[in-house]
Amino acid sequence: MPHQEAKFHLQKLVSLEGVSKIYPSSKGDVYAVRDVTLDVQAGEFFSILGSSGSGKTTTLRLIGGFEIPEYGQVFLSGEDVTLKPPYRRDVHTVFQKYALFPQMNVVQNIAYPLSVQGVAKDEIKRRVGELLRMFQIEELSDRIPSQLSGGQQQRVALARALINRPKVLLLDEPLSALDAKIREGVREELRELQRKTNITFIYVTHDQEEALALSDPIAVMHDGKVEQIGTPEEIYSRPKTRFVAQFIGKANFLVGTVLETGNEAIVVDVNGVKLRAISHNSQPTTGETVTLMIRPEQFYIGSHPEAVNQATGKVDSITYIGQLVEYRVTTGIGTLTVTQLGGRESYTKDSSLSLYWSINDCVVIPPEAKP
Ligand code: ADP
Ligand code: MG
Repeated sequence: MPHQEAKFHLQKLVSLEGVSKIYPSSKGDVYAVRDVTLDVQAGEFFSILGSSGSGKTTTLRLIGGFEIPEYGQVFLSGEDVTLKPPYRRDVHTVFQKYALFPQMNVVQNIAYPLSVQGVAKDEIKRRVGELLRMFQIEELSDRIPSQLSGGQQQRVALARALINRPKVLLLDEPLSALDAKIREGVREELRELQRKTNITFIYVTHDQEEALALSDPIAVMHDGKVEQIGTPEEIYSRPKTRFVAQFIGKANFLVGTVLETGNEAIVVDVNGVKLRAISHNSQPTTGETVTLMIRPEQFYIGSHPEAVNQATGKVDSITYIGQLVEYRVTTGIGTLTVTQLGGRESYTKDSSLSLYWSINDCVVIPPEAKP
């Protein structure tokens, strides 16, 4: 059973347990990070995704040792490092604004961490050479940072971060200074690099697409809290909260009352219409008010004799988004956003439209826990 074996070797490298960071302000305490618990396994590419101000940078600073939490503990390889300074932790941080030394050339910048440790010259040369080749920046060796493009500077900063071979690399929106075109290229390089070195990456971004493309697990943060941790697929298809559902893509929400709970489907009354849904993250009870989520691309247009979930309505508006057509459809259960691949049969404003969708694409979002 190779799968189980692999699991057996998984090792918690970074753990946060109930960590909170509070900043005092004139308007009272600000919880930059609120009761965050998460585990990062060795060798993982772990992303922290959230909008600006959600607490991503503070979380990284807590792991790196630049902040001490008011509550909770930080563990590295099982050791409590909550009170240890950054230089006593086997992690390296690449910040949003990578600080290269402006007067040093590429080689000197990359070699710096080893030079200050007094590592032998031959050894430094060998390791710098390795990284120059890995990042394909050998021909830039003699240039100083002002003679490099943003993407090249970022590569130098990453090479310098790797020269100490840290166990964990913390990356705070490392691509945000690059323009969209080269960002995607560097993104692929990063993924490749992580696979090659097997260094554990903790990668902060506000860009959903980036997180979905890059990572194994993603932690979605909102207002200092972790809303959900899961694979890109889990977070997209089985969101635990309305916030996650909305943040990671477009979603239709329908509010209804639970009529029946069974082994397979939950039956929910939405405006007098029975819908069948699936619940991954909670066990709804009869009479409870729940929210259902349906992604716009999960609707089928037309009717199907065996469809358990269906609605008919009138097209209110039509928008073309690249290859997709988006319809807003007013139905008896609410206004629905429906996307279809363009080029198929198309509908005009005011035409009537029948929709159906499967149980598996009709997902119960658990009621939010009140803080
Ligand atoms: P993100 O990186 O997701 O944008 P941050 O971790 O930087 O978020 O900030 C989270 C919250 O904490 C924000 O409301 C921010 O204003 C606040 N905050 C961060 N650092 C400090 C600080 N040093 N002093 C006071 N408030 C801070
Ligand atoms: Mg930040």
